[in-house]
Amino acid sequence: MEAAVDIRNLDKWFGKLHVLKGINLGVASGERIVVCGPSGSGKSTLIRCINGLEEYQAGSIDVDGMRVQKKSKTITAIRSEVGMVFQHFNLFPHLTVLENCTLAPVYVRGLKPKEAEDLAMHFLAKVKIPEQARKYPGQLSGGQQQRVAIARSLCMRPRIMLFDEPTSALDPEMIKEVLDTMIALATEGMTMLCVTHEMGFARKVADRIVFMDHGEIVEQAPPAEFFTSPASARARQFLDQLL
Ligand code: ADP
Ligand code: MG
Repeated sequence: MEAAVDIRNLDKWFGKLHVLKGINLGVASGERIVVCGPSGSGKSTLIRCINGLEEYQAGSIDVDGMRVQKKSKTITAIRSEVGMVFQHFNLFPHLTVLENCTLAPVYVRGLKPKEAEDLAMHFLAKVKIPEQARKYPGQLSGGQQQRVAIARSLCMRPRIMLFDEPTSALDPEMIKEVLDTMIALATEGMTMLCVTHEMGFARKVADRIVFMDHGEIVEQAPPAEFFTSPASARARQFLDQLL
């Protein structure tokens, strides 16, 4: 089976700072991966390289068999196959929830407005906030806004979803509703690469945990193995700090 994402010998520098060091990572179609590791270990940079938000200097990234290169013609195609949800929701404040969800499908995918609205309502129902469609983001709670961000991504019918700490800016009582949405997506078979420190979520949905430190993948293992007997001292130390 063709990998949804295939990362080989990836190196990335910010000036003299070597932030990704020889990363090799394959994500199979339908696979759910949780990436964790200390702050500054390169998790966000890795995620951002996958949809071309950051350039890399060596190695390769292929998404669905298309090479990710900033100046390539395929970058628009790649970005519409890769949904991305950030810590901060990045919704357009001056557009309604519905308009946030229909904008890209209309302008990038070329859907008719009515088709885009039907699609948006379908996904807003999926994330359990169809009744908020006519409101503006500022009228919603953080958890609701993050669910809109997820619905907005899904409206592009992505082949894979990338999450970068989607719950870390939320109040505790809102974390569960966002995680439940992500669990539902995973259950439906979405290919997912999630940076998160929500270890309950990781245990429940991840096929594989990838642990990063200082720009390297230090180890990767199924959750049962990673959480009970991490192979590296660095992972053990990281897990101890979470508890
Ligand atoms: P994580 O998401 O694991 O916390 P990041 O990928 O955000 O780590 O950062 C990895 C390293 O790259 C850190 O040392 C960070 O300071 C640095 N870094 C991130 N973004 C930039 C940038 N735009 N310019 C320079 N350095 C950056
Ligand atoms: Mg980060």
